[in-house]
Amino acid sequence: GELGPEQQGLVIAHYGQQLDVEALEGERAGSICRCFVRANIDSLVTGDRVIWRPGKNEAGVIVARCDRQNLLQRPDNFGALKPVAANIDHIILVIAPEPEPHDNLIDRYLVASESTGIPAVILLNKTDLITDRNRAAIDDLLARYQALGYPVIRTSAAESGDQPAPEVLTLVQGRTSVFVGQSGVGKSSIIQTLLPDEAIRVGAVSESTRKGIHTTTTARLFHLPWGGDLIDSPGIREFGLWHMTPQEIEYGFREIRDLIGHCRFRNCRHLGDPGCAIEAAAAAGRIRPERLRSFHRILADMAEQQARGLKLE
Ligand code: GDP
Ligand code: ZN
Repeated sequence: GELGPEQQGLVIAHYGQQLDVEALEGERAGSICRCFVRANIDSLVTGDRVIWRPGKNEAGVIVARCDRQNLLQRPDNFGALKPVAANIDHIILVIAPEPEPHDNLIDRYLVASESTGIPAVILLNKTDLITDRNRAAIDDLLARYQALGYPVIRTSAAESGDQPAPEVLTLVQGRTSVFVGQSGVGKSSIIQTLLPDEAIRVGAVSESTRKGIHTTTTARLFHLPWGGDLIDSPGIREFGLWHMTPQEIEYGFREIRDLIGHCRFRNCRHLGDPGCAIEAAAAAGRIRPERLRSFHRILADMAEQQARGLKLE
């Protein structure tokens, strides 16, 4: 078919061989076009910037992928890493007083953030559920992560009504965000305040034209009416809850990473080994015992998961 001139675009959704590309320049800027991909381009994902050529009356063609700032990947059923979304500015890790936060789970998300190089922000939701009973534990938990350099923000989706809370707006404006976290902490509720009906309807209109295409797991990019983008999918919300290597885990704990190479033995397990710099730092109060415990627990969980996986094969 006849194709228009090359121009820049943004991948906003991905369906097998086809993608939705938003025009970023020219008279069609802001409109969305179904595109195919030239065979010589490696896999494209939501959030990718591309060079494409619009079709005159039919689908356009993507001819090149621009360099990525970062890439969120997850393993498929065989353990091979599959790209999911690209060019994310930060991971918003949502926690809440209920369901009670497990520091181990928080640490797993943070390891994933560190290993992708996408900064994480901790967003405590449901502040309306803070009581004299749970306040001290929550403050202590948040202080621990703040001390490591992770920004902490508090909000309540329940109290903000239909409008986004100002602290959430400030967080997402001008950036590309993903929300992750345990089920029930309020991710959907927060996202709902950010994506009023119009934004969702825009997606729904193009959705109706592709009946029969399985869309439930694909990541989608939304422009927020107040500025900023959101990339969301069920898979992204669980980002980080899959297998990690011992190296990734070691690297993913900032305070442990800083001491790698300082232990007497190269293969130190940081578990009663002589001359362990990490245990020494913990004893001196420079590493929180909860974090070190969590580190060992994640390592053990991953080893067990691996053993189970090997047995299944
Ligand atoms: P998700 O699984 O993380 O997407 O969580 P949801 O958004 O589905 O929220 C889980 C439950 O928590 C729902 O019943 C929400 O109404 C409730 N919820 C969400 N935000 C708040 C909040 O700020 N305060 C209170 N009290 N409940 C909330
Ligand atoms: Zn050690």
